Amino acid sequence: RTSISPLRKINKTINSYALAKNKEIETLQKNAEFRREFIADISHELKTPIFAAQGYVHTLLDGAVDDKEVRYKFLKRAAKSLNALDKLVHDLLTLSQMESGVNKFHFESFDLRELLQELIEELEHKAEKRDILIRFFYDKDKTFKTIADKDKIFRVCQNLISNAIKYNNDGGEVEVRLKSHKNQITVEVKDNGKGIPPEDLKRIFERFYRVEKSRSREKGGTGLGLAIVKHILEGHKSKISVSSTVGKGSIFSFELPLDQVLPEKPKKTQ
Ligand code: ADP
Repeated sequence: RTSISPLRKINKTINSYALAKNKEIETLQKNAEFRREFIADISHELKTPIFAAQGYVHTLLDGAVDDKEVRYKFLKRAAKSLNALDKLVHDLLTLSQMESGVNKFHFESFDLRELLQELIEELEHKAEKRDILIRFFYDKDKTFKTIADKDKIFRVCQNLISNAIKYNNDGGEVEVRLKSHKNQITVEVKDNGKGIPPEDLKRIFERFYRVEKSRSREKGGTGLGLAIVKHILEGHKSKISVSSTVGKGSIFSFELPLDQVLPEKPKKTQ
């Protein structure tokens, strides 16, 4: 019986090497494409608030500055556009740091109930302005300790609850729910706002995708919130789920592992 010839062995090695190289080239091409698209999207998004601020400032310079009322109105609008620009750059930086892996995850043990309580208190005044009630539900007998990146999970919950307020009707309701089952905790954010059409539902996690562009911008949205949420949860090996009914509202939810509190070991007695 003859063993595999040296030539065939070399051929095999060359083939698998070529295959690996092809894959590498494909990845590089995909990355380049992604970067090109990303830059095009960013430029487009940056233009909107820059153009707006420019417009107000130039109108002021062209004479509107003499009218006290117009001056105040236009300066306020220019400031609003610059704030939007600032938020956009901040979100872009977060997203790009996360995509490049610079933004590392720091896992620690913390209580999700406490985190949500704190966050809801922070967001309540924003909701109250539009007569929106935030209700928080959890089982008092249960523990909601998890091991995760606390700051990033705060950001996830902040984005979800802010959206539930932003895209709700005045006088609407937001329900935040904590549930635990076996070794998992579920965080659920429900609103009774306008809901998301099925054709948009699978796209809302893409960067800059908005169901209604002008409404999102008007409300200070950058279109990056849910892309950031998705990334953060991927870093936790978790994912975001959503279900929505137009005219009724939406439910966003995700899971994190329960940090099992081990019963204290009985001390050895002598
Ligand atoms: P934005 O900064 O525009 O809010 P997001 O990435 O957070 O960006 O959300 C993407 C889009 O998904 C929003 O523009 C909005 O159209 C839609 N959306 C997100 N959350 C909700 C919600 N709770 N109800 C209705 N629409 C929502």
